[in-house]
Amino acid sequence: MKNQKRSHIRWEKIYEAYNFLNVELFSGHLPFADLRVEPCSGDYAYFQAVADNSKDPSTEEEFCEWLAQESVCDTGPIRKIVLNSELFTNHTDKAILAILVHEMLHLWQEIYGKPLRGHHNRQWAGKMKAIGLAPTNLYWPNLETGKFVGHRIIENGLYAKAFRKLKARGFKLRT
Ligand SMILES: [Zn+2]
Repeated sequence: MKNQKRSHIRWEKIYEAYNFLNVELFSGHLPFADLRVEPCSGDYAYFQAVADNSKDPSTEEEFCEWLAQESVCDTGPIRKIVLNSELFTNHTDKAILAILVHEMLHLWQEIYGKPLRGHHNRQWAGKMKAIGLAPTNLYWPNLETGKFVGHRIIENGLYAKAFRKLKARGFKLRT
C-alpha cells in the first residue's frame, strides 16, 4: 500500500529534484536521503537523522535500485526528509521544492555545520539567505531564527534561478 501511494505522487520526481538542487545549491555535497511524502500534522515538512538502520530494507533497496548508486546507501545514518502530502494539493512546484531545500539545509547543517535540534539558528539562517531563501520566524516576523521558521523565495536568488533552470528542462513534480 505504501509503495502504491508513493508511486502515485511520483516520488521519483522528488529524487530528481533533490539531485538537481543538491548539485545547483550544495555543490553536490549532500548524501543520499530517504525522501518521503506522507501526511504530517501541522508541519509542512521535517528532517530527521536516525542513528541506526532501522528502516524498511525493501524500501531502501528500491530506492538504491532507482538511484543506481548502491554505494551511497550502504553506510551511515539514515537521513529522512518528509514532505507533507497536503502540500501537493495546494502549493506550486516552486513552493514545494523551496520547502524541500529548507529541509535539505537542515541535512547540510547536520553534516557540515552546528545544528541545534528543533531550532533554526543563525548559521542555518545565513546559509538559507545565501542560497536564495529568506527565513522568517512565523510568530516574530522580524526574526530569522527560532523554532518555527518559514521562508520567502528571494527574487533572482540562487534558488529562484535553479528552479527556473529545472523548469526550463520541462520538469514537473506532478503530471
Ligand atoms: Zn526547518
